[in-house]
Amino acid sequence: MNVLTSIILSLLLGLLAFLKKALTYPAGILALIFAFIITYYGGLSAFIILSSVFIGSIITKLFNSKQKGKKRRLIQIISNVGVATLAIILFKITSNDLYLLIYAAVMAESLADTLASDIGMLSKKEPINILTWEKSLKGLSGNITLLGLISSLVGAIIISIIYFIGIKASLRDALIIIISGFIGSLIDSFLGATIEVKYKCSKCKKITERKEHCGKKTSYYQGIKWVDNNLVNLLSNFFVFLFLYLSFR
Ligand SMILES: [Zn+2]
Repeated sequence: MNVLTSIILSLLLGLLAFLKKALTYPAGILALIFAFIITYYGGLSAFIILSSVFIGSIITKLFNSKQKGKKRRLIQIISNVGVATLAIILFKITSNDLYLLIYAAVMAESLADTLASDIGMLSKKEPINILTWEKSLKGLSGNITLLGLISSLVGAIIISIIYFIGIKASLRDALIIIISGFIGSLIDSFLGATIEVKYKCSKCKKITERKEHCGKKTSYYQGIKWVDNNLVNLLSNFFVFLFLYLSFR
């Protein structure tokens, strides 16, 4: 893609983020830089994939009152788009199509995870913990619901279709994106259930990922103290990257 078109497309995405008040200023600037790199080096399909993930996260957050009005911070941009941007940079440097496939698979994982958590949260049924298969409290990382799993699969399929049509990919590559996107989002839940830090509210005794609950500071409950949801997202993106790199290099 040429420089001017890439700048215009990135700015359009930036404008949408600005209008939806989706990002803090530093996050917005970094997102613009990432969007430009992805569009300029990855082309139109890469841009449409990025837009789908972004728009997907905006739309689903509209249904999710807890997430409403929450601006994404710098660290969230790095953990959600960092690995994908790295894949595009490697695609540019090496001219190896594998990195474009990895980019799409990583983004498929991101959209799968976003849809799984935001739509899965709407499930009327109680979620179960991915590790213990026992009923779990709503809103916790590591939860899975049937609705969430289906949403996750749909997210991965959306990215796969864009990639398949956009770069005239093979059916095999389209399937790789669906499978790795879906498995990546399961890895995300698995890490959420195991190593992600959780806190306990001293007032209502609920387990939460938040450092504050019921207007009070929560106390440590389980997980690794410095592993938060952002790091879990980064790790599961990186898992998809590494899995595909090692399988197909
Ligand atoms: Zn509480």
